[in-house]
Amino acid sequence: MCTDIPCVPVCPTGALDEDLVSHVEEGKKVLDINKAQMGLAIVDHESCVAYWGIQCDACYRACPILGQAITIEFMRNERTGKHAKLVPVVHADHCTGCGLCEHACVTEKAAIFVLPRDVAMGKAGDYYVKGWDKKDQERIKQRDLNNLETTTEMSEKKPQDYLNMDEELFDE
Ligand code: SF4
Ligand code: SF4
Repeated sequence: MCTDIPCVPVCPTGALDEDLVSHVEEGKKVLDINKAQMGLAIVDHESCVAYWGIQCDACYRACPILGQAITIEFMRNERTGKHAKLVPVVHADHCTGCGLCEHACVTEKAAIFVLPRDVAMGKAGDYYVKGWDKKDQERIKQRDLNNLETTTEMSEKKPQDYLNMDEELFDE
């Protein structure tokens, strides 16, 4: 992986978008390969030997943003009941999809491999909110609740009004 992204500034067709791989530093645009999203690395737990309990961290060590894009997590080894497993976990927020982990993997066919992000990732939907995540809380605050589009008619009552409607909640 070329960390200085030499292809982007010289691309004659503009096919490579500089804004997608840059951040602003002291008012200047700076190329930053860690912002690239070429794909997402996925670990196949069945063939990754670390998930069997064998020590391996080759993918972790190959990652240019180790500790962020990929971490090693502690797991109890349920099979033996008395050992630990140290397993690789990829984090979608930081993985660039560079493929260095796939290249470094020790198994016959790589147990960690890069897929296009839209294939590798699901989508929970905007209506699920992580109450413990400040970024997600901010996303909800910024939503314009008065102009939400829904397929069903929206009630004009507040949720509290429903909670106080005893007569509709209980049989007489
Ligand atoms: S593809 Fe692999 S090596 Fe590259 S950033 Fe993602 S986890 Fe790290
Ligand atoms: S290099 Fe391959 S086998 Fe080793 S921990 Fe990473 S994914 Fe698992």
